[in-house]
Amino acid sequence: MPELPEVETIVRGLRDRVIDKKIINTELRYDKLFRDCSGKILDQESRDKFIKTIENKRITDLRRRGKYILFQLEDINIIVHLRMTGKFSSDEDVLNDKHTHLVFWFEDGTFLLYNDIRKFGTFQTALCSEDILKTSMSKLGPEPLGEDFTLEYLTAELKNTKKNIKAFLLTQEKIAGIGNIYADEVLFFAKVSPKRPGNQLSDKEIKSIHQGVIEKLRMGIEAGGASIRNYVNESGEKGNFQNLIKVYGKKGEKCQECETTFITETVAGRTSTWCPNCQK
Ligand SMILES: [Zn+2]
Repeated sequence: MPELPEVETIVRGLRDRVIDKKIINTELRYDKLFRDCSGKILDQESRDKFIKTIENKRITDLRRRGKYILFQLEDINIIVHLRMTGKFSSDEDVLNDKHTHLVFWFEDGTFLLYNDIRKFGTFQTALCSEDILKTSMSKLGPEPLGEDFTLEYLTAELKNTKKNIKAFLLTQEKIAGIGNIYADEVLFFAKVSPKRPGNQLSDKEIKSIHQGVIEKLRMGIEAGGASIRNYVNESGEKGNFQNLIKVYGKKGEKCQECETTFITETVAGRTSTWCPNCQK
């Protein structure tokens, strides 16, 4: 699943391609794609009405919040979560692919398509800003690369939780945008075991985790994301972060720092890998 750096890479690439473009036709090939702000699939009437509403609207802004992509069409918003295999493309070769579920045709003859093999991605329609407040996007914690993600914030939250640190890092309501890859990398950087309860971490460890979150996510963005399984950006290009990964997914391999064999276990419901010697 794309995490913050992958979604950020996609949004940066898409902005130049779609901002200021006017939608003249919305070709919906998968009836169940559009949902309302609470996540309920739109019925045919609401779906037709929504498509009619966005006709002739311009895409005025496109931005990321956590792992969500927010399309602003003048006064209307569409909130997209790519989940496992959702992707945007302007590639003509993908236009007639059976997994292409939506095509926005623009006034200038160009298009943006949405393709999703597993169909887990979601498009939530928000006709006003109050609608956005009803979506799970509005409940997200601070952006880890924004000014609200301070050491003070992280310390206060961790001192107050018995949850293990891996679960905490994955909780979108506490920090927006981190998933399994970057959580494992952050904990290796901070030399902290994923199983440690938040309220038992030292100030020094919390500081390292804070630094690790910022550093690893920045590295991920700089590398254009991690191409594990099938992630590619909006131009069909792979990222490079997979080559910089130190621990995630390296089951049975040896730690680069100390030669100890990594442990792989389910922590917080996710496959987690860590070094039992470096990470305490
Ligand atoms: Zn080690």
